[in-house]
Amino acid sequence: APASEVSLATRVRVVCRVRPLTETEALRETRLIEAVDDKTVCLQEKETPNVFTYDSVFDEHATQEDIYASVGQKTLADLFKGFNGTILAYGQTGAGKSHTMMGPGDGNDLDRGIIPRVAENIFTHILQSSDEVEYTVGLSMMEVYKEHIFDLLDPQPKDFLIHEDKLNGIHVRGLSQAFVSSSSEMASVLKQGCKNRRTASTNMNTDSSRSHAILQIILTQKDVTSGEIRRSSLFLVDLAGSEKVDRSGATGITLEETKKINLSLSVLGLVINSLTDPKVNHVPYRDSKLTRILQESLGGNSRTTLIINISPASGSYYETLSTLRFGSRAKKI
Ligand code: ADP
Repeated sequence: APASEVSLATRVRVVCRVRPLTETEALRETRLIEAVDDKTVCLQEKETPNVFTYDSVFDEHATQEDIYASVGQKTLADLFKGFNGTILAYGQTGAGKSHTMMGPGDGNDLDRGIIPRVAENIFTHILQSSDEVEYTVGLSMMEVYKEHIFDLLDPQPKDFLIHEDKLNGIHVRGLSQAFVSSSSEMASVLKQGCKNRRTASTNMNTDSSRSHAILQIILTQKDVTSGEIRRSSLFLVDLAGSEKVDRSGATGITLEETKKINLSLSVLGLVINSLTDPKVNHVPYRDSKLTRILQESLGGNSRTTLIINISPASGSYYETLSTLRFGSRAKKI
């Protein structure tokens, strides 16, 4: 077990990232969001400004490197110390979640996001560490859509179940795990998983923005002399778009489906909120697949970072307000 406890105050961090206006938005819409300082963001509402405070606020000038330095680096250092961790990107479709988590292209450029940077740094760390420890890096990738779990490393028409036992803790039974020994090997597994996500969503006739994409990195450290084994787990999650699913729209989605899609996100909000509130003694992990999968990396001795991604454009006003409120509810500052 890790030597020191993660305090209640640092257990959960909420970070807000504002993306730049797109070219089209810049032509037709106005900017409603200003980052006031590095913890405060202001949403202009008719005459009255609406102010929100988080652990950190990043405006459109923040680079991918800035985000990694603030969010990824510490979580990765904790992983090597034996702490579990979770980084989640929340926000409406188009707000910048996958830009933040993955980045554009193959992730080999300056714009690569948190996941490719973690992939790189995990192996830098291993190469620099002592020979006394043997490392194993395992990867799993899954997608949760309407409370069903799919394996992105081995796409098959199978619904996976969550199990709990002494040896493995809480885990998705039968989910494949790829073992990788370099950042380039890891990059190719990630690439395959992302490709399967697109194929799967086309085959299932679903929209991938409605599903949660979950990458799990399991680090095993074996002390060569004592034989002692330490396992820690990091979840990197690109959440489903937080926009309200339109029931009456052309998507043909039923009320039951709408409920399931929205369920995971609202339960996630409740769970994160109860982690920072010492008065709460029941955390509703079991109320959604997403929170159940993440359970051991959200509570207890782990660190969770919720990145709320927002667009500054006036056309996104309601979704932005709803995202800002989700972030505020998740953690009272
Ligand atoms: P989401 O995953 O939330 O649906 P994306 O990450 O796909 O949103 O972002 C939507 C568009 O905005 C993409 O074209 C993306 O490249 C761009 N974008 C998002 N965030 C940024 C940013 N911080 N800087 C530059 N472009 C961004």
